[in-house]
Amino acid sequence: MKSIEEIRADFPLLNKKVYNKDLVYFDNGATTQKPQCVIDAVNDVYLNYNSNIHRGVHRLSDLSSEAYENARKTVSSFINSAKHQEVIFTPGTTSSINALAFSFGERYIKSGDEIIVSYLEHHANIVPWQMMCERKGAVLKVIPVFDNGEIILEEYYKLLNSRTKLVSVTQVSNALGIILPVKQIIDAAHSADIPVLIDGAQGIQHGIVDVRKMNCDFYVFSGHKIYGPTGIGVLYGREKFLDELPPYQGGGDMVDKVTFEKTTYNELPFKFEAGTTNYAGAIGMGRALEYVTEIGRENILQMEHSLLQYAMEKLSAINDIIIYGKSDQKVSIISFLLKDIHQYDAGMILDKMGIAVRTGTHCAQPIMERFGIDGTIRASMCFYNTHEEVDKLVEGLLKVVEMFS
Ligand code: PMP
Repeated sequence: MKSIEEIRADFPLLNKKVYNKDLVYFDNGATTQKPQCVIDAVNDVYLNYNSNIHRGVHRLSDLSSEAYENARKTVSSFINSAKHQEVIFTPGTTSSINALAFSFGERYIKSGDEIIVSYLEHHANIVPWQMMCERKGAVLKVIPVFDNGEIILEEYYKLLNSRTKLVSVTQVSNALGIILPVKQIIDAAHSADIPVLIDGAQGIQHGIVDVRKMNCDFYVFSGHKIYGPTGIGVLYGREKFLDELPPYQGGGDMVDKVTFEKTTYNELPFKFEAGTTNYAGAIGMGRALEYVTEIGRENILQMEHSLLQYAMEKLSAINDIIIYGKSDQKVSIISFLLKDIHQYDAGMILDKMGIAVRTGTHCAQPIMERFGIDGTIRASMCFYNTHEEVDKLVEGLLKVVEMFS
């Protein structure tokens, strides 16, 4: 097991200065930093074997195609999909959900049908379904939450009915850090034969994702939130659905035979990967997942749990702090406000101290409105953060309070 110093040395950016201060990076919910091995893997593509995949008969194309398909196998084993053909590479979570909303809508949705999401969703798991509902005359239903932000399961069960065609919920709320009871959500939907999509954008980084154990029908995530490059992500789907769903984009690589009269489509996963994909990104993401496996997912969870406990204890001791989303089921994300101080002011002052937090609605306006606020300060920590960094955040917040008193 690597020490925290060794882990931090793997991430070049963590050792940079901001305004001549040591960087404290607490914005891992927005994107994570990259270990040197991921940067090297992407560089290696461009330095040594760059070539378009699945196209040429030449050596470089073979090398890049093989590395790309190996990355698919790495993803498949990381999330434990039954087949690696069930892993579709996309530009990210948002693209995955938009793709599915289009294809699923075309294949299964008619006027009056219903889709269920929760109050905790990121806009990426709301708006594509609204667009699809508008196109198809379907209706979006929303699982309500308790005042602490946990979803009300009883109300969810009441929403399920014969018109429900899909349940699409996040595994972890990006705004509050609350972990949703996805197993119960999936089991209830399945008992009525309704498929479930899990938005894993935050879950993949803070959990041990096993799509077969979870038994979800679709799972989506972004590479950049799990120490991989930007512009690459995954749409996992159960083969039976991916076989039935129509492609959402046409072009090269997704076809079997093209004539002006009729085109037939390629097999899985290529049917959903039209055009030149971000193969360098996929290879980098594969390396990131290997890195996470090398550190150990259990170890990561333990380190993050310890950070969360420590930060909750320290932050709760600050006078006039309001913490949103208090729950036993939480990842290392804390959302809060300081009474009578606007989140942007606090965020800007912290920034000058070298502390990067996120402020605003976190692309989750409905849950902010549910709390009657226009945003929070969010500290999202991950395994490379330290208890000393939490102390610096607390010190910084105390200074903010002092400045405004
Ligand atoms: N869903 C959740 C829960 C997220 O946290 C995010 C990113 N903040 C997204 C979806 C969208 O991810 P991306 O911007 O990588 O497409």
